[in-house]
Amino acid sequence: MKNQIHVIYGKDPTLMTEKLLKATAPLKGLSKNIAIGIKPNLVSATPPSEGAVTHPEIVEGIIKYLKEQGFYNIKILEGSWVGDETKRAFDVCGYKALSSKYDVPLIDLKKDGYTECNYEGYKIKVCNEILKIDYLINVPLIKGHCQTKMTCALKNLKGVIPDSEKRRFHTLGLHKPIAVLNKLVKQNLIIADAICPDPYFEEGGRPYEMNMIALGFDPVLMDVFAAEVLGYRKEDISYLMMAEKMGVGSFGPYEKVEHDLENKGFDEIRQPEEKYLNLIDEAGACSACYSNLVNALKRLDEEGLCGCLVDNICIGQYYRDYPGEIGVGDCTEACKINIPGCPPEQDEIYIFLKKLIKGSLP
Ligand code: SF4
Repeated sequence: MKNQIHVIYGKDPTLMTEKLLKATAPLKGLSKNIAIGIKPNLVSATPPSEGAVTHPEIVEGIIKYLKEQGFYNIKILEGSWVGDETKRAFDVCGYKALSSKYDVPLIDLKKDGYTECNYEGYKIKVCNEILKIDYLINVPLIKGHCQTKMTCALKNLKGVIPDSEKRRFHTLGLHKPIAVLNKLVKQNLIIADAICPDPYFEEGGRPYEMNMIALGFDPVLMDVFAAEVLGYRKEDISYLMMAEKMGVGSFGPYEKVEHDLENKGFDEIRQPEEKYLNLIDEAGACSACYSNLVNALKRLDEEGLCGCLVDNICIGQYYRDYPGEIGVGDCTEACKINIPGCPPEQDEIYIFLKKLIKGSLP
């Protein structure tokens, strides 16, 4: 079972999830009193149809299954990305309604305390509520990410650390801390949402209909599968390679078990070559900041304006005090031209750069 990835296709995420759980019976033999944590991906307060956040219908399928099996000690835990409120995400993404319907508490990890955990001298602050969980069900998306190429089981755990630690992860280049975090926090079951994920950016906006849900037990194996779905090889994803080396999980090979082929029919995803990304000089940028810049540049590119930008744009925490030409975010206030904010909104960056290109700024 450990080396299997169970896949189902269809249009009813709740039913699909229940079917996968009934077929695999992952909690068989466990005490009914264990504390079960469900960790979706609610990176931002956007509707699931935009491709950035986990469909609540999948979590509903998990809760229904757990309660049917006699497990009642269940919590939903999440901490959205820097720049958004988890409380707002719980509401907008449909989790507040889900919590009331099934009487399952929502835990905002941004409001939680933390414990400093240590793996071979590498220290990471982890939210206390996660450390109290006996059985963690990770419910990520199979989704693109503009800094790490993709995000699925391994990277979704970034939501279980405080905001200060999320910022620090970016200063450390993301990959190694993500791998280490997975040594410190064990996930027992992964149910990955590929209903309509955005294959290019973590904050959604370009949903790609796949109508698929995948279930697995090994986060490394699940990420190998997710990478293939998104058109990457495992070697393209540094944190995945590091996690396997640290013994978080196995590269497989995996056995794909298909449960229902109804409605299957998506084409292979091909990752585009975005030339405007070469305009960015990034060092330690937070995800929201970086993704707002990428999206602003994408809009300018669609208008044929990116070629008019003469200087590269600095972004990230390592650019504090650096006297560059153009900088995005409060971290780059030493640049000659700075777009303030922490993080600045996509619209603000777009309008600012457009004005700059049009020569209406001093
Ligand atoms: S300005 Fe951007 S990169 Fe700097 S801390 Fe704020 S969000 Fe992170």
